[in-house]
Amino acid sequence: MSNVIYERKDGLLIIKPHNYKRAAADCSICGFALRHQEDIVEHENFDCCLDCSLIFRQPNKEKWQQGWRPTGKDVKNRIFNNNQEN
Ligand SMILES: [Zn+2]
Repeated sequence: MSNVIYERKDGLLIIKPHNYKRAAADCSICGFALRHQEDIVEHENFDCCLDCSLIFRQPNKEKWQQGWRPTGKDVKNRIFNNNQEN
């Protein structure tokens, strides 16, 4: 039992493995919540949700591997405008 962490929060005792790492809940590119397993897997592998992967990463695979990421303006123009049309 030595490899667990005890944490008191809001009157609750939380017990978790010492190496516990909470999975990301939001896409680090567009900021939307990860919605399904494919989003989670894509985020673990490429640090973005499936939509961002299709729109930004896959057409820019080499740049992406070298650390390029779309600007906030690019994301806003592509993702938010696409969502408004639907
Ligand atoms: Zn995203």
